[in-house]
Parts: sequence; structure tokens; C-alpha cells
Amino acid sequence: MQAGFPEVSTIVQEAASCGDHAALEEFRLRWLGKKGEITTLLKSLGTAPPEERAARGAAIHVLKEAAQSAWDTRKVELDQAAEDAALHAGWVDVTAPSMARPLGRLHPITLLLEEVIDHFTGLGFEVASGPEIEDEFHNFDALNIPKDHPARDVWDTFYTDRREIPRTHTSSVQIRAMQTRKPPIRVISPGRVFRNETIDATHHASFNQVEGLLVDRHVTVAHLKHTLETLVHKLMGRRLETRFRPAFYPFVEPGLDLDVQCVFCSGVGCSICKGSGYIELIPGGLVHPKVLASCGLDPDEWQGFAFGMGFDRMVMMRYGIDDIRRLYDGRLQLVRQF
Ligand SMILES: [Zn+2]
Repeated sequence: MQAGFPEVSTIVQEAASCGDHAALEEFRLRWLGKKGEITTLLKSLGTAPPEERAARGAAIHVLKEAAQSAWDTRKVELDQAAEDAALHAGWVDVTAPSMARPLGRLHPITLLLEEVIDHFTGLGFEVASGPEIEDEFHNFDALNIPKDHPARDVWDTFYTDRREIPRTHTSSVQIRAMQTRKPPIRVISPGRVFRNETIDATHHASFNQVEGLLVDRHVTVAHLKHTLETLVHKLMGRRLETRFRPAFYPFVEPGLDLDVQCVFCSGVGCSICKGSGYIELIPGGLVHPKVLASCGLDPDEWQGFAFGMGFDRMVMMRYGIDDIRRLYDGRLQLVRQF
């Protein structure tokens, strides 16, 4: 090695330790650039003693070759690293363990409906379904609600352009059940119904009902009363106080309402039960003889009871949901379960 010359190994190590392209460019300028150290050494050859020029020239050439080679090597390595980094930016490691996803849960309406269906099928009822778009006969006429009868106004009814009705209750399914089955009949009909209601905390334009119908011989109010009380106790998980009040519905005679002790205040009186201590839960009654007759059943031979639950209200009571809109807005959280 010439005196005052850098070591080849020093140059090679310096190139290899360049962490990125910018550092490598600095290396190139420092050694190989026009004002770099090797170029400066080359320029100094002219002033060297003539007898040393050949040896110095050869040594400088070795340095230059080494610097160029080290630069080339490091350049390839850094290019490859940059290419790998770009590739890995969109990399999917198919061997990595999968991320845990929280499992969904069944909707409270579905949960409670499964319980109701389980309860009634255990009593020998079957589940019946019918179309959500009905005709006037099944939705009104056959239920003893003739055209232009004021009772029809009670149901805030939607109509389609063709005078079809998005059903206002699942009672229409009871009519279909009586038309297609022979007594004794025991059916429940869960499903969505539609009313032209202003949507607020306790009303929705689309909600769920579960209706029940039993047709047999010698059916009395006592059968209905027992059936509903058993249902409430089963669904609410405890023996809530119940009471029956007379009520008018065109398709039953006598008609009644089942009230249940308010679960929010345990009967003391609160804003939800409007201070009464009770929540009106299930209307029902004995099937009106005219309804039986409109379905081709002889009222002198057959009697029946029917009831209809505003099912959403029951779900709200069961799960402590205080706003019906929360059942349908997709951001439902369980508050408490009674
Ligand atoms: Zn209350």
C-alpha cells in the first residue's frame, strides 16, 4: 500500500454500511466523484516523483476498482431491499393466525320469538304464515270489519296503488288458517305488520305481532285466560300480576285486554305505564260468530279464542328497551334483562 493512501478494506466497509441510497450517493461523491478522494489522488500523480508514478498509479487503480465494485454491490442490495419493501407493503401473510372477530348475536325479537314458538308448539299449536300484502277480505271483511265501518278507521292503513293492503295485523293469517284447515285448529302467526303511524318511542310504522287462534268445541274465556297467563309467566320468567279488562274488537265477542304488572316500576306507577302500574299487553277474546261463519265454520258447532300480541312491546319489556326505534336502527345494545 502506498503511504497516505486509504485501505481498500476501509472503502469496502464504508460502502457496505450505507443504509440507504442517499448514503450510498454520499459514498460515491466522496470517493469516485470529480472532487472525490480517488480523483484527487489521480490528479496528484503528475506531481509525484517519476520513479513512484507507476506504483502509485497502480495503487490508485486498485482503490478505484474496489470503490466502484463496492458501490455496485451495495447498489444492487439496496435496490433489492427497496423492491422487497414495496412488495411487502401490500403483503398478505396467509400463514399468520387470523384476527379474532366478535361473533354476532341473535336479535332480541328473534330470541323471544323462538321462545314463544317453543312455548306454543309445546301446547300443540303450529306456526302459520301468510302474505304481508293482503286483500281487503282477509285484512278486514272476514274479520267482521265491513267497508265504510268506522271500526276500519282504527287501523291506520296503508294502501297500494292497486288497493292492496300491507297487512295491518296478522289476524289475516287466522282467516287463512280457518279457510284451509279443519277444526280443531291451533295456530300462532308471527309476522310483520304495517300501520301509518308517526314514528316515536312507542310507535313504529312497521312492527311485529304474534297472534294465536284456537278453534274447537266448548271453548270459553277461561281457556284464553289460562293460555295468556301461562304465556306471560313463562316469557317474563316470574309471576307478574295480570288483569283482564273488557274491550271492543270487531272480530271477538266478548273482547278483552290482558294487562301485565309494569316491570319497570313493579306496579308502583311510572311514566312508561302512565302511573297505572300496568302495561296493556295482549288483546284477545272469543272469536266472533260472524268471523267463524265468514270462514265457513258453523258458530253453533265451533267456538274459538284469539289473541294478538304487540310483540315488539313484549321484547322491550323483556329486555328493558325503552324506545321501539332501537329495535330497528341496527345499533341495539342490551340494557338489562328482566
Ligand atoms: Zn310502571
